Amino acid sequence: MATYHIETYGCTSNRGESRQIERKLRDAGHYRVDGADEADVAILNTCTVVEKTERNMLRRAEELAAETADLIVTGCMALAQGEQFEDLDAQVLHWEDVPAAVTNGECPTTTPDAEPVLDGVVGILPIARGCMSNCSYCITKFATGRVDSPPIEENVEKARALVHAGAKELRITGQDTGVYGWDTGERKLPELLDRICDIDGEFRVRLGMANPGGAHGIHEELAEVFAANEKLYNFIHLPVQSGSDDVLEAMRRQHRVGKFEAVVDAFEDRLDHWTLSTDFIVGFPTETEADHERSMDLLERVRPEKINVTRFSKRPGTDAAEMKGLGGTIKKERSKAMSELKREICTDVHASMVGETHEILVVEDGTGDSVKCRDGAYRQVIVTDATERGIETGDTLEVEITAHEAMYCFGEPIEVRNERPAAV
Ligand code: SF4
Repeated sequence: MATYHIETYGCTSNRGESRQIERKLRDAGHYRVDGADEADVAILNTCTVVEKTERNMLRRAEELAAETADLIVTGCMALAQGEQFEDLDAQVLHWEDVPAAVTNGECPTTTPDAEPVLDGVVGILPIARGCMSNCSYCITKFATGRVDSPPIEENVEKARALVHAGAKELRITGQDTGVYGWDTGERKLPELLDRICDIDGEFRVRLGMANPGGAHGIHEELAEVFAANEKLYNFIHLPVQSGSDDVLEAMRRQHRVGKFEAVVDAFEDRLDHWTLSTDFIVGFPTETEADHERSMDLLERVRPEKINVTRFSKRPGTDAAEMKGLGGTIKKERSKAMSELKREICTDVHASMVGETHEILVVEDGTGDSVKCRDGAYRQVIVTDATERGIETGDTLEVEITAHEAMYCFGEPIEVRNERPAAV
């Protein structure tokens, strides 16, 4: 659980992107503080409209770098003139990559009093808090402790209440959803998912992060539940963090590469169109060049559809913070190499969807008059001119995929299905 400070400059588009960053950080349990000196991470969302603004941005970045442990620079100047920040020990990122960098490889935090939240048509359902691990780089575990799982019935009732309140997408969250029930001696995630999918109504279910160590052991049963339930997005988030067993051991992760691949294979064997999401921490203190190559090889071999790459940074009070770290240049180079491979893989994934037809759910407003939608594998599809086409959040559309960017596709509606009462 990190604290962050965010500063946004420039147009309404930049402000909208900062709001999205904050929303994702809130969902992951991080909280905002005012003042970089109190924050674990400072985020500078830049503007580059005139030369004077550029000079101001650079000066502000230097000040923030001096005040905080970690600086992330994003926004227009970061994308157009990222090299200007090269002398600072800052991560220069596209805004969509900022939340994962702040999360720093840790699981999302579910606080003890976390209650379901309805945000538009998205219902956020925390099923448990805590984890079963003791990762050497993690500060979150100090705040949340060991896994504590409420009974299935309690979670099903909360899910039912969210559906009755209008949720079209249920996001099941927890620090490590794969270990739900471990504290009670029963591995109950597959049963919980089955029961939630049995609730009457038109909605979809997205399972949040499950560590490979916890998912392994129930992976066959879990993959069966996904194959049997249409309401479940065919999506699993398994943060592997490294392709090297030596680094995983130093991280004190509860899996090794073989367990991660066994879970992936179970899903691959049962699902056609599905998304594997994973995370890598680059530049962990013990990571050698050979370890880094193992991570690159794993990425090439498995080719996940969604990949978060985080440059390692120290969190105070953790064991990894005491280890002698790698130089900033090494971390920067490895992170650049991995981010380039990520972009290539994700571009291929989205390019391969062009020409296909998919049923998608409209989940939230996008920029301008567009809407953000998700297909059955939780891949992002953007539909433009929503107002003109009478499309609103909560609608289901059949679309043809007509174009793509690296991280998402564009869809052209063939049919719009909504359950809204006709206007009178
Ligand atoms: S699984 Fe590891 S990274 Fe996640 S909360 Fe537990 S100790 Fe932290």
